[in-house]
Amino acid sequence: MKRLAQWTQQSLRARILVLFLGLLLVAQVAGFSAIRASLSNHAHSALPGRLELGDRVLTSLLAQRAQKLSDETRLLAADYGFLEAVSSDDSETIVSALRNHGQRIGAAEAALLGTDMRLRASTAGHAAGLAPIATRLSGMAGQLTSPGKNADEAVVAIALLDGRPTQFAMVPVKAPVTVGWVLMGFPVGAQLVADLQALSDVQVTLLSRQSSNDPWQVSLSALPPDQAASLAANLWSGPTPATGMTVVDLADDELGVLRRWLAGGGGNDVDAAAGVIALTSLSVGEATRIPQDLQLALLLITLVSCALFAAGSALTAQRVTTALHRLAVAADRLGAGDFATPMDARERSDEIGQLSQAFERMRINVAAQQEEILRLAYWDTLTGLPNRAQFRDAVGQAIEAAAESNTSVSVLMLDLDRFKHVNEVLGYRFGDLLLVRVAERLVQQLVRGGDVVARLGSDKFAVLLRTADTALAQSVAQRIASAFVTPLILEEHTVDMSAGIGLATWPDHAANAANADVLLSRAEVAMYSAKQRGLGAVVYDPTIDASSAQTLSLLSDLRRAVTDGELRLYLQPKLSLIGGQVVGAEALVRWQHPQRGLLPPFEFIPFAEQTGFIRVLTMWIFEEAARHWRALRAEGVQINLSINLSTRDLLDQNLPQKFDALLVKHQVPAEALCLEITESSIMDDPQRAQATLERLSALGFKLSIDDFGTGYSSLAYLKRLPVDELKIDQSFVKGMESDADDAKIVRSAIDLAHNLGLTVVAEGVENAHTWDMLRDLNCDLAQGYHMGKPMPLETFATWSVGWLAKTRMVSTGASPMLH
Ligand code: C2E
Ligand code: CA
Ligand code: CA
Repeated sequence: MKRLAQWTQQSLRARILVLFLGLLLVAQVAGFSAIRASLSNHAHSALPGRLELGDRVLTSLLAQRAQKLSDETRLLAADYGFLEAVSSDDSETIVSALRNHGQRIGAAEAALLGTDMRLRASTAGHAAGLAPIATRLSGMAGQLTSPGKNADEAVVAIALLDGRPTQFAMVPVKAPVTVGWVLMGFPVGAQLVADLQALSDVQVTLLSRQSSNDPWQVSLSALPPDQAASLAANLWSGPTPATGMTVVDLADDELGVLRRWLAGGGGNDVDAAAGVIALTSLSVGEATRIPQDLQLALLLITLVSCALFAAGSALTAQRVTTALHRLAVAADRLGAGDFATPMDARERSDEIGQLSQAFERMRINVAAQQEEILRLAYWDTLTGLPNRAQFRDAVGQAIEAAAESNTSVSVLMLDLDRFKHVNEVLGYRFGDLLLVRVAERLVQQLVRGGDVVARLGSDKFAVLLRTADTALAQSVAQRIASAFVTPLILEEHTVDMSAGIGLATWPDHAANAANADVLLSRAEVAMYSAKQRGLGAVVYDPTIDASSAQTLSLLSDLRRAVTDGELRLYLQPKLSLIGGQVVGAEALVRWQHPQRGLLPPFEFIPFAEQTGFIRVLTMWIFEEAARHWRALRAEGVQINLSINLSTRDLLDQNLPQKFDALLVKHQVPAEALCLEITESSIMDDPQRAQATLERLSALGFKLSIDDFGTGYSSLAYLKRLPVDELKIDQSFVKGMESDADDAKIVRSAIDLAHNLGLTVVAEGVENAHTWDMLRDLNCDLAQGYHMGKPMPLETFATWSVGWLAKTRMVSTGASPMLH
């Protein structure tokens, strides 16, 4: 059973088969039950009729016998010899005649009765038993001899003789008056049963008893003896209908029974009567039993239809499941990525045919999509070159081939310089065009078949050189670099192109890993190094790798520094050279590194500038400076704070907007802040820097040129910028004491700045002498260790109080520290 359940669960075919057969079985059982019920109904309703028919046959049989009996008896009564013997009262002859005649006709008893009904002679010793019978019959004879009745009529009745039911006939002996009666008794026996059986299908049983105290005895029965006995015992154990059929429940069968009194009794109260009862019976079970041929026919129909159903459903299931199986195989094929094999499209118009057509359509669509995906996955849509994925595969294959043939594989990687800038200034459409042209140029440089140019991403390209050692690759790199020297002319723009080129060779630079990724990353490391150093092409070197690994970890450290609050903002005072009072402070960042302690800016600022992280840092510094400004003002110190900006900051078009938002957030006026920009950062991209500076100035920020004197900008140029302040670089200030040239430079810078209407700040003031010199040169402000080193905000307040106290002590005009 469990296995059947398992089988049907796993197989659709089994399920169909079991379902069909189950349904058939249900239908068959229902049909069978209906036939049974109908047969039983019919049999039950036909039963009383059949019993009555049997009963009529029984009575007519008895009547026939009675007729025959009375005829025979009449024959004896009319016998001349017998009559003579009766008249002469020759009892010997009488007895012998009675015996002869009785024997001839099979009578159990023959007797001669007097007219007074007293026994005159008899053949057997039943005198005692006969007397009551004679009395009963004479009563009946009395009715016969009454006027108007045919006195020749015999009297016939059934009575018990020696406990056995016997049919008696009594006929008058006439000579010519009635001189006596002849009485003959015939046992009611097997013959009656046999005759009844021959004429009808009922069973007859005779029950008898002498008195109502005796139990009913089975005198005769066509039933099996035990059934007859239990019928005798059970027949009246319950209420009995007066007439008609009774159903009697026997241990092994139900009998429909009809009752007829043959002698005695006659009433309904059978319990209180004695005599002879004839029971005609029919077996209910027998009547309702489905005839064997019908059973056989039903069985045959069931078997044949089962076989037909099984075959039919198996065939249907087969058709469905093989089609499904084919679809499943096809789906597996699709799942495994085989979109080329068409569906087995056998002509079928049914649902399965439709399904397989749908599968076929799906296959075609997916195949098309797959092709498109492959194209997108392996090709760069802009330039039509292979993309990174395809390039990586190609490099992998080239390495395998090189490993077998003992040759080398080289990879060049290129990154265009300032492409982002091109994109931003000339637009993305132009940038795209430029990339296409660069791709063309690169492809032109390759002369060997089998070499691959790919675009790895935005402005990054790569070249795969099969069977090429480092020297060959270097010459190709050189060729590419010189090809870039010629400017590209695109839509009337002339664009100078340059690129950092990195080069790595397998196995030279990635011997221990026959792996495309390793080779690619080495070429990339070399490329970044080339860009950093401003060299055309750089061959991979493990030392570069080490430094770039450090870079990566440093970058993540720096990110953490911002998020975990490891940065500190220090303030270095700016003082008026005339009054000595604090007029401002420069915000300078420090990094409280958890392992390395307090780090000065040169340890991380250049790195942050290189990686672009400086933008994040600048935002943090700006916000922190704004907080500091508010904190100082809360203590009554109202001074300007200077903030340093980098080249990258100036290139950020959104910088003014971001600053403005922070000013609003912290409720700080723009005039309170001064932005320091180095000459060199302006000169990196003068146009853009100028645009940004103008917007910052328009917002109200003060602007200052930092490290003045170290760059190449002319004051004439600076004049065009909206700056307010000039900071002379500390290298000149520190040297002016001892170096006349430095002093000259400082002097002319101060004069020129004043001519342009700018405030001049000298930084790097380390002693009182320098202070005095600067004051004599009319420099406006000074910043330096002499007055105060960069310090945390908390120290700044106490420092400025101390400083004020010192300046008040001294007379104007002298250096505060000299005295
Ligand atoms: P800078 O903008 O020229 O800042 C002045 C530097 O000179 C500061 O060094 C300051 O401590 C130092 N200094 C001031 N007076 C004297 C002096 O009398 N003698 C000597 N020997 N040095 C003096 P610091 O703080 O180490 O900063 C170095 C540079 O790092 C700064 O030069 C600036 O370019 C950069 N930097 C510092 N903080 C920031 C920042 O918040 N943002 C950006 N973008 N750069 C920063
Ligand atoms: Ca500065
Ligand atoms: Ca400076």
